[in-house]
Amino acid sequence: MTKAFVSASHSLADQPRQQSLTIRRDHPPRSDSDRQSSDGSPRPSYPTWTFLALGLIIGLVVILIAVLSGVGGRGAVVAESPAVGPIPDRYDAGRAMGYLNQLCDLGPRPSGSPAMVRQQQLLEDFFAKRGATVTRQGFETRNPNDGSALEMTNLIASWHPDRPKRFLFCAHYDTRPYPDRDPHNKRGVFIGANDGASGTAGLMELANQLDDLPSDIGVDLVMFDGEEFVWQERRDRYFIGSTYFANQYKTEPPKIGYQSGVLFDMIGDKELKLYYEVNSLRYAKDVARSFWKTADRLGVQAFVMRQRHELRDDHLPLNQIAGIPTIDVIDFDYPRPGIGAPSYWHTQQDVPANCSGESIAAVVWVAHQWMISQSSVSNQTNQ
Ligand SMILES: [Zn+2]
Repeated sequence: MTKAFVSASHSLADQPRQQSLTIRRDHPPRSDSDRQSSDGSPRPSYPTWTFLALGLIIGLVVILIAVLSGVGGRGAVVAESPAVGPIPDRYDAGRAMGYLNQLCDLGPRPSGSPAMVRQQQLLEDFFAKRGATVTRQGFETRNPNDGSALEMTNLIASWHPDRPKRFLFCAHYDTRPYPDRDPHNKRGVFIGANDGASGTAGLMELANQLDDLPSDIGVDLVMFDGEEFVWQERRDRYFIGSTYFANQYKTEPPKIGYQSGVLFDMIGDKELKLYYEVNSLRYAKDVARSFWKTADRLGVQAFVMRQRHELRDDHLPLNQIAGIPTIDVIDFDYPRPGIGAPSYWHTQQDVPANCSGESIAAVVWVAHQWMISQSSVSNQTNQ
């Protein structure tokens, strides 16, 4: 995924939580004993007034930031639970994290790499075991480095393609060749725990939920290759797999098309906050609104009903070429929103330790319940 630009809707409400803390930490409240000079006598009144005035100003700044950011008293860097209440047991955070670890243990997984080949086998077996018909959508492209032929593969796991309401859930499963935004080593190792593995792990956990679907619903889980086979930012193409998939869908439409699509990307952040993404509202507003409404109903507070970033991602070809109304469920602020906050995106910090199975399970919970809410037959599947 690549960033179009930061949306103008960046609001003060998204100011960093730790900013106010930093100020507190840098200027701890002074005790009376601090104000004693070395001989034990009180300091002269002028410095005392200076300290008081300084303290007052700092206090006001801290209060102002706290009020503007709406986080007063919430503590700072401690990750908040993605949901108000407990996540139901069937959406298993430990299992989801296990999937994420399993994928990361394969090593970096850029398109065409041996680890990608191992990942494809792992996933094909995984989804087949859960009752899906798994199709490899293979196609040839060019390696931008030397023009040589490169085989890419989208993986499609399909349940009940004959049913009238079909939903597409997707993620990219390739990882970027290098952590080219890393402040220390732009040619280091990029594991892609959040950017690559988390979305795929979300699809895996969702696959565990498909045994008791309402009778009118069919599901395809699709993993796109070549989302970011990008060695040089301005030279190389993004979204190669999803573009191929969208073109195929358009030229050879299935008997029953998808009602809508949901893209998972970077859903594993320990400090999950999911804002509306601008292009999702542009192309699939109803899907986005109903999805976030489901989150609200379930008390999954990680979903915030405000727009924040405009992103170019795999949902663009699906919307623009295939005409499938598709939203991007993405937490682009990794780890947390805010000016001056660190970003692990495309760095060596994108590792399992910065991800959480709870975040993935919360998203899968919403996705599954949202899909059930779209059924005309049944709302029986419990939460
Ligand atoms: Zn990326």
